[in-house]
Amino acid sequence: MKYALVTGGSRGIGRAVAIRMAGMGYHIIINYQSNDVAAEETLALIREAGSDGELLRFDVSNREATVAAIEQWQTNHPDDYIDVLINNAGIRRDNLLVWMEPDDFDRVLSTNLYSFYNVTRPLLQPMIRHKHGRIISIASLSGQKGLPGQCNYAAAKGGLIAATKALAQEVGRKNITVNAVAPGFVKTEMVDGLDEAELKKQIPLNRFAEADEVAAVVAFLASDDAAYITGECISINGGLYT
Ligand code: NAP
Repeated sequence: MKYALVTGGSRGIGRAVAIRMAGMGYHIIINYQSNDVAAEETLALIREAGSDGELLRFDVSNREATVAAIEQWQTNHPDDYIDVLINNAGIRRDNLLVWMEPDDFDRVLSTNLYSFYNVTRPLLQPMIRHKHGRIISIASLSGQKGLPGQCNYAAAKGGLIAATKALAQEVGRKNITVNAVAPGFVKTEMVDGLDEAELKKQIPLNRFAEADEVAAVVAFLASDDAAYITGECISINGGLYT
C-alpha cells in the first residue's frame, strides 16, 4: 500500500488532488481542520475513483497537534510510511498592511508557512529510511510577484517556495524530490467574493483555473515521470505572470 497525505484535502484543490492521487492507486490520508461533512465527501469520491482513504483531522498550524496526529498514524501503521506529502492546507486574510491586524498576519503565516515545518519534518525520517519520497507544496502567484492586500499571504507563499528549494538540496541524495506549484486564480471557495468577470480580463487564457487543472500538475510531480524534477516551482496561472 502506498500512502499519500493531502493537507486540506476536504475541499477545493486538496480534494481534486486527493481524487487524482487515488486514481494513481494511492491510499489517501485526508487532513482537514473542521469540515467533517466535506472530508467525508472527499473520502466517498476517493472510493468512487477505485481507491480508499482515511480522515486525519488536525490543525496544521498547531505544531503539537500535528506531530501527535502523525505519530499516532505511524504507531497504527508500524510497517508503512507516507510516501507522498501534499502541503495544501491554506487560508487567506487579505487587507492592506496598514490595516492588517496582528492575528491576520500570524494566522496566515502559521497556516500557510509554519505548517510546512510542522507537517513535513515528522514525515522526513521515514522517507529517508525508505529512500523515496515526494513533497509537493501549493504556493501561489502571490508568493512569486506579490499582490496588494496580501503581505501576509505573499510572505507565506514566497517562504514556501524558498523552503522548497532549500529542502530539495538537503534530501535529493535520499531520492526525495521537493517541489511546489504556484496557481493563479482557481475556482474554489477561497476565491468566493472576488470579481471573476473583472479579474479574468487580466488573464491571457481569460478564465480562472479548475481545481483539477492544478491537481493534474501535482499528480505529475508525484509520479515516476517527474523523478528528475526537484526544487522547482511550476506556475499554473493562465499566463497571468510569466
Ligand atoms: P479552500 O477551498 O478554502 O480549502 C482550504 C482547505 O484547507 C480545506 O480543506 C480546509 O479544511 C483546509 N484548512 C484550512 N486551514 C487549515 C488548518 N489550519 N489545518 C488543516 N486544514 C486546514 O482553498 P483552496 O482554494 O482549495 O486552496 C488550497 C491551497 O491552494 C491553499 O494553500 C491556497 O493558498 C492555495 N491557492 C489557492 C488559490 C485559489 O485561487 N483558490 C490560488 C493559489 C493558491 P476545512 O474544510 O476543514 O476547513
